[in-house]
Amino acid sequence: MSSVLPKISIVTPVYNEEKNLSELCVRLVFALTELGHPYEIIFVNDGSSDRSAEIIKTLANVYTEVVGIDLAGNYGQTIALRAGIEQASGAIIILMDSDLQHDPADIPLFIHEIEKGYEVVGGKKLDRPEKGWRKWISEKAHQVISSIAGVQLSYFGATYKAYKSYLLKSTNLLTDNHRFLGALVVRKGVRYTEIPIRIHPRLHGVSNYSMNKIGKVVLDMIYLKFFISFLTKPFRLLGTVGLFLFGTGCLLTFWLVLGNFIFQFHIKENYFIEFIFGVSLILSGLLFLSIGIVTQLSVQHYFHQKNHSPYIVRSILQHSDNEKDSISCR
Ligand code: UDP
Ligand code: MG
Repeated sequence: MSSVLPKISIVTPVYNEEKNLSELCVRLVFALTELGHPYEIIFVNDGSSDRSAEIIKTLANVYTEVVGIDLAGNYGQTIALRAGIEQASGAIIILMDSDLQHDPADIPLFIHEIEKGYEVVGGKKLDRPEKGWRKWISEKAHQVISSIAGVQLSYFGATYKAYKSYLLKSTNLLTDNHRFLGALVVRKGVRYTEIPIRIHPRLHGVSNYSMNKIGKVVLDMIYLKFFISFLTKPFRLLGTVGLFLFGTGCLLTFWLVLGNFIFQFHIKENYFIEFIFGVSLILSGLLFLSIGIVTQLSVQHYFHQKNHSPYIVRSILQHSDNEKDSISCR
């Protein structure tokens, strides 16, 4: 282990948390000072309508380690996290909620695992609240996500996780996918572990999410599959669908036209709908193939630009001991 302790950046999104911020900050400062690493605490105010921005400003005046980012509007938790991650300068980034449901006292446990060599440490909720069919769905969802990611993730729901910063800096966070951030970042080869944490009930303010998010989760899973398997090769996916539709359409239409001549099918009277269906399949197939090519070209153009690499470099290994840590953006 190097003699200089790596800097820790805490990134926490804030939406109407005026009653939680001061206590959170004090508890964070306490836990981090005890730990002894250099640190910064980044509060990202996500367009709160209460006094959160004012309180963050006061905290930044009191503590030199506190940085406040005041977003010009409410962009949602994921974008707020992204703003904080872009600002973070630590080698380790810890993401957590600002409503005191995540306990700052757990930070040393995360750091302990990072020091063992893990690159992502996930907080695993000790007492899962789901019961009955919700529990079953949640377990199945975790199995699907684990198999998409190629890594055993037993709990991805909590944002409370510690990351080596090179992994996070390169992940393009949009929409609601903070829920899947662990799975977006963790894939085969990334050193991942989970630690049990307590998630406290919210004492002040209200939750911003309803329990009814199964639809969103299914969409996010489809996105996750696309992101992991096809981000750099969308033509594989769209082209396969296109070829399948085109091929099926050709076979159907060919069979009908042939039958019309040999067996007197009388397409117009008896098989008109089937004929139109066959032609539509051909056209849809061609459409998928064209969209696939255009998408592939845009992806190629995107990854051709500087700072948009489809990979993340952990470190550069050289002959001497000037091993370099390196970051690349996706
Ligand atoms: N949050 C945010 N922007 C939003 C909604 C929520 O920054 O539009 C923050 C919120 O202040 C909290 C975290 O995201 O720190 C998690 O939100 P919440 O506690 O409502 O979610 P839950 O714990 O109920 O899933
Ligand atoms: Mg909460």
